[in-house]
Amino acid sequence: MKLDFHMPTKVIAEKECVRNNADVFKIGKKALIVTGKRSAKNNGSLDDVIWALDKNNIEYAVFDKVMSNPTVECVYEGAEMAMEEEADFVIAIGGGSPMDAAKAIALLAVSDIDRKDLFSGNIGNKALPMIHIPTTAGTGSEVTPYSILTNHEKQTKTSIAAPCLFPAYALLDAKYMKKLSLKTTVNTAIDSLSHSVEGMMSARANIMADIIAREAIRLLASEFDNLARGEFTDEDREKLLYASMLGGVVISQTKTTAVHAMGYSLTYFKGIDHGRANGLLLGEFMEYTEKFAPEKIHDILDCMGMKTVDEFKAELHKILGETENFVLAELEMYADIANMAGGVKNSIHCPDRSEILEIYKNSLL
Ligand code: NAP
Ligand code: ZN
Repeated sequence: MKLDFHMPTKVIAEKECVRNNADVFKIGKKALIVTGKRSAKNNGSLDDVIWALDKNNIEYAVFDKVMSNPTVECVYEGAEMAMEEEADFVIAIGGGSPMDAAKAIALLAVSDIDRKDLFSGNIGNKALPMIHIPTTAGTGSEVTPYSILTNHEKQTKTSIAAPCLFPAYALLDAKYMKKLSLKTTVNTAIDSLSHSVEGMMSARANIMADIIAREAIRLLASEFDNLARGEFTDEDREKLLYASMLGGVVISQTKTTAVHAMGYSLTYFKGIDHGRANGLLLGEFMEYTEKFAPEKIHDILDCMGMKTVDEFKAELHKILGETENFVLAELEMYADIANMAGGVKNSIHCPDRSEILEIYKNSLL
């Protein structure tokens, strides 16, 4: 057996998690709170964090300019604010976008990295400590060492990765998701499903990550009917948040595969939400992988109580609805881009450019 598993984030999940664990905020004297434009103010998460900071007499400043699919410009602006405010730790509140932006901000606040070198793979391993509070249930970014940013130069999304990007704490409370729209609930749930399924199809899959992935896939499959119907109890929300965190732990070890690498073009060029982009490609990539590693695919299907990839595709179709319109020329361009992406090579069996194009065509035309 060969195993190498490192996930240093302390995860705490409970009702009223932030207020009940106010002491964890004592990791610094002044926080930069990183959020999106609106949701943290509306769902109670920002109020809870400020309550916990005030209780401990910790100062803070708020950077609330993070957009979906954050840009390089946004994280440099946030890092400038962190430095000006002399923040010594970062609190991320929100979906994957603020959480990923917060990681790059925490890195850039203490590391002198030129914009042209940000995606060079040579970013050192120094960042401010972080506390992450996810308010969507999908990316699992609260437990991964990745920050995924829009990379205009390469017309895609590119991840930066370093052990220092693991948050120190992840605080999970599903109460913030009560008013999360059905669209974002569905798309983020499918993102987390994709993480666990891809983790099992990854060249880096390992025995522990597989155990965690199977549990996450089982939990998510038990929510398929609710995702199709659009009805969620508090317990469903908790289950989705827990499964999302598990999916994050999985990819923190295995990384993602061709599905994510191919999905980035759907987001970059068509504005399709990250999780939906993965969901539109996942079934077809499983069918491709089944030819080379049938036992892996049957293991995944088994967790969902299914026998065939076609059954899974039909379920996904029920949840995601009709696919957007694409033309062949677009898919040719996406295939060129994905063929250059590292994520493709992380698949248990790597598709070449013509196979990538086939997967796009079968999924989207
Ligand atoms: P998101 O872009 O963070 O958020 C989507 C929308 O949901 C935003 O409009 C946001 O509003 C809103 N929202 C967030 N929480 C809400 C709540 N509790 N109630 C109501 N609205 C809420 O979407 P996401 O899918 O969570 O994250 C996607 C990003 O994560 C992508 O950039 C993707 O590449 C990245 N990702 C990272 C990893 C990783 O390991 N680092 C893994 C997978 C994906 P506001 O803007 O107002 O907050
Ligand atoms: Zn993802």
